[in-house]
Amino acid sequence: MRTKMVAGNWKMNKNLQEGVALATELKNNVHNPSCAVVIGTPFIHLASVAEILKGSPIALAAENCADKASGAFTGEVSAEMVASTGATYCILGHSERRQYYHETTEILKEKVELALANGLKPIFCVGEIKDEREANCQNEVVKSQLEGSLFHLSEDDFRKITLAYEPVWAIGTGLTATPDQAEQMHAYIRSLVAERYGKAVAEDTTILYGGSCNDKNAAELFAKPDVDGGLIGGAALVAEKFLAIIAAR
Ligand code: PEP
Repeated sequence: MRTKMVAGNWKMNKNLQEGVALATELKNNVHNPSCAVVIGTPFIHLASVAEILKGSPIALAAENCADKASGAFTGEVSAEMVASTGATYCILGHSERRQYYHETTEILKEKVELALANGLKPIFCVGEIKDEREANCQNEVVKSQLEGSLFHLSEDDFRKITLAYEPVWAIGTGLTATPDQAEQMHAYIRSLVAERYGKAVAEDTTILYGGSCNDKNAAELFAKPDVDGGLIGGAALVAEKFLAIIAAR
């Protein structure tokens, strides 16, 4: 049975004290969750939040890592540094990184490899922009993102990946993909994984939905057979909402 998961992506929100307070509140309220729970925080929060989460079922993710192992790359944070904080996941391929920081499928391929080489489990985001959905080419877009950054991996390494389908037009906009739209894409992604790695791997692959998923619509999205959980942005910043989404999974 594949892992069900609710993962939060704090993005560039919360200063260190606010982040520590939110992580503490989550730790105090998440005891025996019925799914894996992950929080993705800014780099500077990782070490402090890792301390707070000791003994908690909540796992910790970075929101990014460098595409280089080490050296003269001022301002970058390597996968090895991320892992040294106690984080065990790394969100990669988020549309904001693709769009604002020009992360290409090739750059993301490097990041995925470095994350894996340092023992981090990537939460890898794919998804189409609004124009691509309107032109009905979302399947081609998602397929090329998967092929370009992930499908070179061995089966063993691919099994360490969590996928997140995040239609870009639904991120932070309040526009959610309908449960049927999400299910259609998740089933398509699973079929691509099956073609590349076989049915058993596809059945074991966790595919999250992200894009204005919140405490009101999560249950309906999670009820779909190929939607294994959510990657949550805005609603992950409010403990009460994030806890309700975990309860919906
Ligand atoms: C995200 O950034 O991964 C996300 C899904 O954001 P939001 O939930 O705010 O749409």
